[in-house]
Amino acid sequence: MRYVSRANLKLLLDDLSGQYRVFVPVRKKDSRFYSRYEGSMDDVVIGEVRAFEPLKAFFFPAVEKVAEGFSGGSFPHEKDRPVCIVGVKACDLKGFKVLDHVFGQEDEYPDPSYIKRRAENLIISSDCTMAIETCFCLALGLKPFPQEDFDINLSPVGDGFFVFVGSDKGKQIVERHAGLFEEPGEELSSAQEKSRLRVIREVERNIEEHGVPSQDRYQGIIEKGYESAVWKDEAESCVECGACNTICPTCHCFLLYEQMKGDEEFARFRMWDSCLIKDFARVGGGDNPREHLWMRLRNRFEKKFDYFRKVADIYACTGCGRCISACPAKIDIRDVLRKLVEENE
Ligand code: SF4
Ligand code: SF4
Repeated sequence: MRYVSRANLKLLLDDLSGQYRVFVPVRKKDSRFYSRYEGSMDDVVIGEVRAFEPLKAFFFPAVEKVAEGFSGGSFPHEKDRPVCIVGVKACDLKGFKVLDHVFGQEDEYPDPSYIKRRAENLIISSDCTMAIETCFCLALGLKPFPQEDFDINLSPVGDGFFVFVGSDKGKQIVERHAGLFEEPGEELSSAQEKSRLRVIREVERNIEEHGVPSQDRYQGIIEKGYESAVWKDEAESCVECGACNTICPTCHCFLLYEQMKGDEEFARFRMWDSCLIKDFARVGGGDNPREHLWMRLRNRFEKKFDYFRKVADIYACTGCGRCISACPAKIDIRDVLRKLVEENE
């Protein structure tokens, strides 16, 4: 394990900017947003808590041109310069488990732009150094610090960071910039352990206060709760805005559409879609298998807590709490899970 001071991290990011488009989290009021690194660390917050936007936006953009013309052989994304995203949190990294299953399987329906970005982009993740009221990652079996799916992880201590290497790409970067890193002392190690424990306690407190059941109690809650009154009760206040889908690091449904320019030029685009919106499942002829809003709300939970469990042995939720903050109707996924678990036991 190594240590890098904040001043030396700046030098590292300066150098990486030659190869990557570097994005760093910057605090604005009470939230953190990814912003293009322009050579200054002044407003950069590497620790704290997850960014407002989900990480998926760097790998599966909200709107993307996926094809143009009819020539074949080249894709718009091939011109992209790779991205380095700094300060990514463990809850967003878990999103890869779902997105890789959907877009990244070479033998199923591989998505060339997603696969290219996964291979080329660089993840410099970081521990959370605080929890906000909506964090409940521990209930989903995660810790508030990354344990996998990063190239380099930064664990903030003092005026710098412990450095963990998580991939060959990360190892090469650390080796290439060996002069920027040093051996951490005993005192720093103990401060780092204490910081991690403190954040775990904060998330535990959130979970306790909201009575959030842990994932070992989710088995069968959707099937058994299929006719539960929960769906209609919760859907009463839903305004069908789709924010819970777009803000979620694991939601991945999309819509394809074409645009013509003149008679000759053609382009196909992909944009994020939302399963809460009425037309999401409408088919030709006008039939809609999920006509009522409560059916669509149930479908969202079914996909996350039943379908993905069956096809990929994971729950498609990371406990990031974004959908709780984003929902104008104050629908809280933790309450829905608690009610379903209580009805099931
Ligand atoms: S469902 Fe909500 S809490 Fe779970 S990963 Fe998506 S946004 Fe985060
Ligand atoms: S964010 Fe809330 S109101 Fe909007 S679609 Fe989702 S559940 Fe409904």
